[in-house]
Amino acid sequence: MSKSRRKPIRGRAVSGGSSSPASAASVPVEKNGVYEADIIGIGHDGEGVGRVDGFTLFVQGALPGERVRVKVLNMKKQYGYAKLLQVLQSSPERTEPACGIYRQCGGCQLQHLSYEAQLKYKRQMVIDNLERIGKLKVAEHQEDLPKESLILKEDAGDNGILVYPTLGMSDPWRYRNKSQVPIGMDEGGLIGGFYAQGSHRIVDMETCLIQHEQNDAVVSAVKRIARELGIRPYNEETHQGLLRHVVARYGFHTGQIMVVLITNGENIPHKDELIGLIRQDVPGVTSICQNINTKVTNVIFGDETRVLWGEDFIYDTIGDIRFAISARSFFQVNPVQTEILYRKALEYAGLTGDETVIDAYCGIGTISLFLARHARQIYGVEVVKEAIDDARRNAELNGIRNVQFEAGQAETVIPAWHRQGVRADVIVVDPPRKGCDGALLGTIVEMQPRRIVYVSCNPSTLARDLRILEDGGYRTVAVQPVDMFPHTVHVESVSCLIYKGF
Ligand code: SAH
Repeated sequence: MSKSRRKPIRGRAVSGGSSSPASAASVPVEKNGVYEADIIGIGHDGEGVGRVDGFTLFVQGALPGERVRVKVLNMKKQYGYAKLLQVLQSSPERTEPACGIYRQCGGCQLQHLSYEAQLKYKRQMVIDNLERIGKLKVAEHQEDLPKESLILKEDAGDNGILVYPTLGMSDPWRYRNKSQVPIGMDEGGLIGGFYAQGSHRIVDMETCLIQHEQNDAVVSAVKRIARELGIRPYNEETHQGLLRHVVARYGFHTGQIMVVLITNGENIPHKDELIGLIRQDVPGVTSICQNINTKVTNVIFGDETRVLWGEDFIYDTIGDIRFAISARSFFQVNPVQTEILYRKALEYAGLTGDETVIDAYCGIGTISLFLARHARQIYGVEVVKEAIDDARRNAELNGIRNVQFEAGQAETVIPAWHRQGVRADVIVVDPPRKGCDGALLGTIVEMQPRRIVYVSCNPSTLARDLRILEDGGYRTVAVQPVDMFPHTVHVESVSCLIYKGF
C-alpha cells in the first residue's frame, strides 16, 4: 500500500468533502459512471483498492490482480467508492464464500479470498506497516527463516526483522466461543440475527459459520422458546418490548454453556417456564443469567446481572490455566488461537524462572497467569476494575501466588512501580487498537527491561510504537502474526524486542 492510500482510508469517517471544481478537470471518473478498474491492493476494511487512470476507487469484494467493472457510488476529492458490477479477470486467490449471508452481514470481510491468501495478506499488512510507518528494516530472505531458538540469541546479526508466516488455523471455521445476537421483530414475529451491513435493521439468522455450533444451537433454542412463550422482542425505535439480546458463551475445553438474556426491564413473564424450557432444550447448560439494560443505547450489557438458574460462571482453560468467565467478563473469543499466541509470547519472553515480568494491559490476567509458572514475580495492570477482580479470582483458582494485579492506567501505574523500585526483566504489552501511551513507552525505555514482548491487534500502531522503542535502545528481532479472527481483516501479532545495551 502506498502512503497516499492510507490517508483516504483513515479520513473516510470524518471527511465530508466532495470534489472541488478546480480538481474536477483532473478527475477521470464521476458519480454513477461505469468504468473498468485494475485492483492493486487491499484496504483496511478488506475492500479492493482500484485505479482508473491513476484515480483511486475502493471496491468492496474486488481482489488484487483483478480487472473489474464498477459503478461509482460516491466521490471524494482524491478517491471514490464504487460498486462491483462484474469481475472481468478473476484472481486465482478468489474463492466462493462459504457463508450464504456473507455479503449482507459484513461480520466477515475476507471470505471471498482463499484462506491461504488471507494468511499471506495479513503478514504483508504487518510488513508494510513496519516499513512504512515504523521505517523499520524487514529481513529480505523470508523463505528460509531461522528457527525460534536462533532468533532468541541476543547477539544475532542485524539483518532486519524476521516476520514469520502467519500462524493460521487448520480449520478456520466455528472458532468463536461467544455469540451476541440482537433480537427484533419482523412480520412473522420475533427474530434474532445480525444488523444488515451499515444499518440497524436486524436480519434473522440461524447459523454463523465462524461461531461454534453449540452457540448457534443455544441462540436458536432461546429464540424458539421466546416465541412460544410470547416474550416481546425489544424495538430499538420505540424502546418498547423486553428481550434485547441473547448471548451464548461456550467453554471449548469444559463444554460448559452460559445463556444470558439481556432485557429491557426486570420482570420476565413466564420466567419459570422459560428457565425450564431452556434447561430442557439446551442440554448441558450450566448457567442461565439475566442482564438488565433499560438504557437507550447501542451498548449490549446493562449494569445489573442476575443468575436465573445454575452457576454465576462457566469455566474454560488456556493451556493448563483455568479461567472463570461471568456474563460480562472479557475473554478471548478464539481460544484455540489464543493459546498459540500466548505460547509465542512465552517463548519470546525467554523466561528461565528468575525473572520479574510486567504485563501491561493485562485484562483478566490471561497472559500474566500463563507466564507465572515460568517467572519469579509477575505484575499485571489493567484499567477496567472488574477485569482486575477477575484476574485476582483466576490467580486464586489456579493457586498462583506470584502475581500482583493493580487496577489503573498502565502509563500511571508502571511509572509508580518504577519509582517504588520495581525492576522488570521482561515487559509484555497488549494494548487496545490505539497502541501504547507515549508516557508508558518512555517509562519502559527508562526501566530498560532485557526484553519487551509486544502483542498487537493493530499493525499501524505497533509499527509506530516499535519505532519509539528502537530509538530508545531496543531491537525488534522477530514478529509473528497469528490469525485470531479468520475471514475478518483483523491482524494480530506478537513481537520480540531485545535491549541492545547488553
Ligand atoms: N492481555 C489481555 C487483554 C488485552 S485487550 C488478554 O490477552 O486477554 C487490551 C486491554 O487493555 C483491555 O482489557 C483494556 O481494558 C485495557 N486498557 C485500555 N487502556 C488501558 C490503559 N491506559 N491502561 C491499562 N489498561 C488499558
